[in-house]
Amino acid sequence: MEKVLVSACLLGAPVRYDGTSKAVQHPLLSRWQQEGRLIALCPEQAGGLSTPRAPAERQGERVITVQGQDVTAAFLRGAQHALSTCLRHNISFAILKENSPSCGVTQAYDGSFQGQLVTGEGVTTALLRQHGIAVFSEQQLERLEQRLKKILSR
Ligand code: SF4
Repeated sequence: MEKVLVSACLLGAPVRYDGTSKAVQHPLLSRWQQEGRLIALCPEQAGGLSTPRAPAERQGERVITVQGQDVTAAFLRGAQHALSTCLRHNISFAILKENSPSCGVTQAYDGSFQGQLVTGEGVTTALLRQHGIAVFSEQQLERLEQRLKKILSR
C-alpha cells in the first residue's frame, strides 16, 4: 500500500511550538488514516526540540528562534529523520503543514517575527523534495487524491 508521511500536528498530536495541535477534519484524511496509509511525524520533535519550544522562523538557510538562538542543526536533524522515514517505508508523498519553518509547503514566515508570510518552504519540505518526494499541504488533499488514484489505476 502507498504510504503517506503526515505532519503529526495535522492528525491532532499536540506537538506544535506552543503545545497545541492543528488537527484537520477532512474525509480524505480520515479515509487514508482508516486505510492505515498515514505515517505521522513531527520533524521538530524528531530533531530533538522539546514541546513547548520557542517559535522559530527561517532566515535564509538558517532557522532562528524569536530569542535569536540558532536552531538550524535541530531542524536539519528533523528533516533527515523525515527523509529516513520516507525511505524506510518507500514513501513518495507527504502532507505537511503549511507555513511552518519545518513543514511549510508554499509559504513560510519571513524571519522578522512580524507574521509576514512569503513564498517559500520549510526545511523538511525542501529536503524531501530534493529526494523526489511530492509534498502537499493540508489545503491540497484533493490534489494528492488525484495522484494516488493514478497510481492505483495502473
Ligand atoms: Fe507540525 Fe511540522 Fe511543526 Fe511538527 S514541525 S508541529 S509536524 S508543523
